[in-house]
Amino acid sequence: MDLKDLDAAAPGGVYLCQVGKAVSCGACCGLYNTAESDRDSLTAMLWRRTRRFSVIPRELDAILGFAAEIRARESQTRPYPEFHHCPYIGMIGREKSRVGCLLHPFADGNDGVDFRGISYYGGLACRTYFCSSCKCLKPDYKRILRAVADDWYAYGLIITETALVEAFFQELEDRLGRAILSRDILGHGEREALIRRLIDIRRSWPHRAVPERFGNYFFEDRKYPKPPLEVGEGDEIGTRYRVIFRELASAFSSREQLSAAVGIFDDLFEGLVNMIQDDSG
Ligand code: SF4
Ligand code: SF4
Repeated sequence: MDLKDLDAAAPGGVYLCQVGKAVSCGACCGLYNTAESDRDSLTAMLWRRTRRFSVIPRELDAILGFAAEIRARESQTRPYPEFHHCPYIGMIGREKSRVGCLLHPFADGNDGVDFRGISYYGGLACRTYFCSSCKCLKPDYKRILRAVADDWYAYGLIITETALVEAFFQELEDRLGRAILSRDILGHGEREALIRRLIDIRRSWPHRAVPERFGNYFFEDRKYPKPPLEVGEGDEIGTRYRVIFRELASAFSSREQLSAAVGIFDDLFEGLVNMIQDDSG
């Protein structure tokens, strides 16, 4: 996938939405705002929709009928009730290996016609919306994450965590004493693997205060803020990664749990810093 043209039109010059054969994000379409949001359940849901949509005539009534059918068939229980979940998210690409919009003009069967105007948000919003990660994250952070990600499911979870990503890279920069550049990570297999470890931590973090709120609610109205982090004030262990743990929506039930969580990040940062410093050393 050639990202150069897409980068040119994206905020900050780095495009984040459809970035690889199997790497894309559908979080702002409400992808994770489902009763069952584990990878298998979402994959089954997306494939079912994609197969069904492939035989739907591209006519207004039929496309609206498809959405009604999806709503009748699937649970409408939502972890974030006021966050719209779009019935037109499916699997796209030549091998249907990443998540995307079934109404997009390039999606199979649409013959270049943009049907997104039918959707809840309307065509303009679907075409022009960029989340805070697109707009606010440093370009190098974005380049690193989109390059090392290898799976749409985990990518959409990490890329929308603007404050978590910022806090992670800022901690790394504080330890290095300089800004992190994409070349510090990309092209170095072990370092890329450690960044993938961060992606995996976001996906499988066991300390989420509200496990069913698995996706992030990242809109500016802040209707569903992250839960406050409950660790003792002045607790050195707790404060070191306070922002990271808060952005992971953590709740720790014991000091041992907190210590173990701190150890995970200590290892991750020490590994990255040692490898990067070896270059300059
Ligand atoms: S949430 Fe952000 S990165 Fe994901 S598809 Fe929407 S605009 Fe793109
Ligand atoms: S119609 Fe809009 S909200 Fe729905 S999947 Fe497509 S881009 Fe997302």
